[in-house]
Amino acid sequence: MSDAAQPLNDRLTPGLYLVATPIGNLGDITMRAVDILSRCDAVACEDTRVTGKLLKHLGISKPLWRYDDHSEHRDRSRLIESIRTRAVALVSDAGTPMISDPGYRLVNDCRAEGIPVTSLPGACAAVVGLTLSGLPNDRFLFAGFLPVKDKARRETLTELSATNATLVFYETGPRLLKSLKALGEVLPEREIAVAREITKLHEECRRGLSDGLMAYYDANPPKGEIVLLVGPPQDHAPSDADADQMLRDAMQTMKASQAAGQVAKATGLDRKALYARAMEIKTE
Ligand code: SAM
Repeated sequence: MSDAAQPLNDRLTPGLYLVATPIGNLGDITMRAVDILSRCDAVACEDTRVTGKLLKHLGISKPLWRYDDHSEHRDRSRLIESIRTRAVALVSDAGTPMISDPGYRLVNDCRAEGIPVTSLPGACAAVVGLTLSGLPNDRFLFAGFLPVKDKARRETLTELSATNATLVFYETGPRLLKSLKALGEVLPEREIAVAREITKLHEECRRGLSDGLMAYYDANPPKGEIVLLVGPPQDHAPSDADADQMLRDAMQTMKASQAAGQVAKATGLDRKALYARAMEIKTE
């Protein structure tokens, strides 16, 4: 099912409409999302207060039904029965439903029951973080949130270490330092990007190796929402341009000699040559 052929102002065909919403900047709502939210019969959401605010901002008033994948089977069955005869939009608090958010079970069950489902593209922090980071994006693996416990976190990183792709994680401010520490232990040579508060007033994207980023965020405790990205394994020495970039990143938080030592450790390049280059970069 798609709404593409459904005339504007007409009632929508009954079914489930997956609607992405902004991840910070309200300007990122799509015209199609506004149209579907305006014309649907009800909105299923994670938190009625959060979605209520968004709809109010858009001047839309709809019945709001709370939904999460852990809801009782009976509640989901009731929702599915409603979707048979109504157009229901599913939104999460922010971003694309189901990406580390509820919805999977609902979509799976709707498909199994032959209920029409369509998905509207829109903001997703993982994708925006990837494009913002400048890390290789020809192959990437989104792995949601890292486990909370130290041992499980290290095990997950070890399991992913051989994956030939940029790794993308969701992260929170209070846990960032622990994750950077684990990355330093398991993948010390990998370039990391921390994309914080994407699309918001204090958006920043900081790149470096784990030691440098730990030093920075230790001194500047990170606030807000974070996408943590880890570059792919390098099976060859980095290009001169890549090595220069690593030195520049490292020198944001440490002296040239320390930066050279860290980049040498990460890349296997000669420490003295890196130090000489770091001094050149400093005077550029
Ligand atoms: N479904 C959402 C999406 O499509 O991006 C993600 C929901 S998940 C519960 C929330 C996590 O997404 C946050 O903890 C953070 O890691 C990431 N996130 C959401 N908004 C973000 C933003 N504006 N900047 C950076 N990370 C963000």
